[in-house]
Amino acid sequence: MKKVFLVKYGEIAIKGKNRYLFENRLVDTIKKSVKTLGDFSVKKEQGRIMVEPFQDAVIDEQAIIDKLSRIFGIVGIAYGLKDEEISMEAVKRLAYEHMRNECADKKLTFKVETRRADKRFPLNSMEISAQLGAYLLDKLGDSVKVDVHHPDVLLMVELRNSTYVYSTTYKGAGGMPYGTNGQATLLLSGGIDSPVAGWMVAKRGVEIDAVYFHSPPYTSERAKEKVVDLGRKVAQYTGGMKVHIVPFTEIQMMIYEKCPHVQLTLIMRRIMMQIAERIAKMNGSMALITGESIGQVASQTMQSLVVTDSVVTMPVFRPLIGFDKEEIVQISKKIDTYETSILPYEDCCTIFVPKHPETKPRLDIIEHSEQVLSDTLEDMIVSAISQMEIVQII
Ligand code: ATP
Ligand code: MG
Repeated sequence: MKKVFLVKYGEIAIKGKNRYLFENRLVDTIKKSVKTLGDFSVKKEQGRIMVEPFQDAVIDEQAIIDKLSRIFGIVGIAYGLKDEEISMEAVKRLAYEHMRNECADKKLTFKVETRRADKRFPLNSMEISAQLGAYLLDKLGDSVKVDVHHPDVLLMVELRNSTYVYSTTYKGAGGMPYGTNGQATLLLSGGIDSPVAGWMVAKRGVEIDAVYFHSPPYTSERAKEKVVDLGRKVAQYTGGMKVHIVPFTEIQMMIYEKCPHVQLTLIMRRIMMQIAERIAKMNGSMALITGESIGQVASQTMQSLVVTDSVVTMPVFRPLIGFDKEEIVQISKKIDTYETSILPYEDCCTIFVPKHPETKPRLDIIEHSEQVLSDTLEDMIVSAISQMEIVQII
């Protein structure tokens, strides 16, 4: 009898030919992420991935479940018992041991459900559940009762290459295994929205790296550290992330000096997009990601978003486009970025924000304003990229 984590995965099961690719990627990600918590064997087994501590290893069960529950592609995690023997005796042995632990000195109701991947087993699922139910009632006496509608314990029996028994299934992060759907570059600021946007795209299997525009001394070292911390939070789900920190002060000062102040944010945003696109191409990314949602601030009106987009050729993903702030806050709390995001260090936008920003910009007018920058902008962009700092989060 051994302890084992049963990992359930969803969507990848329906991916046809790609299925093995997805499964193998998920196995690799699991191996990499549990490695820091002990020695485990991680193996595919008929629609599950079994994570088994090596014999006698002392493990922190909750820490492992927490780790697994952040891996994209996993829909559920159960911690149960395994016996290599496939027989009714093995089922009874495991179930008795499991229920004895569950009950301790409590009285509990239970129900048995069986999944039989190995159809050669002489009894069908219903028969196994019925026989096991009767056996447990007999062995555990007064402390258990059957309740098929609202049981305290839903005892699951799975017959695969081995026999498995478990009850509680913890919720996984869902989505697709990280790294199975290309790569995109996230414009990561210190706010609430962009980490959530990055997490949402990463959840669909897209590998992400990040770009942060840093404007010392207007933005402090702590503001920069905060962004790296946010990268670290998102990396808890992705297993790692490269954050590019691009010095932006010179460019920002130049816009401030030369362009109409009502257009500052928009012109700044367009230059950020151009730089991000170049970094994305250098890294093999296929798209950009921002945390914008329609109408949230002046630079995010429909007109502004259109003007921002037209400066790049890469697709720009805005997964929060239709979300209200409250909905974004909810996700940021769930993924644990919220507390970091609300730390009060200013980002570059707040210092250069005009009092009455343009809300219905016209592309031709903005392009006209940008003409005064054209002599120096290219050199400044090249210089900013050459001076960027790269933080590799593991
Ligand atoms: P967030 O909460 O993500 O900061 P916000 O509501 O503060 O968003 P803005 O400051 O208008 O909105 O920024 C919109 C988007 O532009 C951000 O979601 C982010 O993707 C990008 N962005 C803004 N400032 C920076 C920056 N300094 N570095 C990198 N990206 C940025
Ligand atoms: Mg912001």
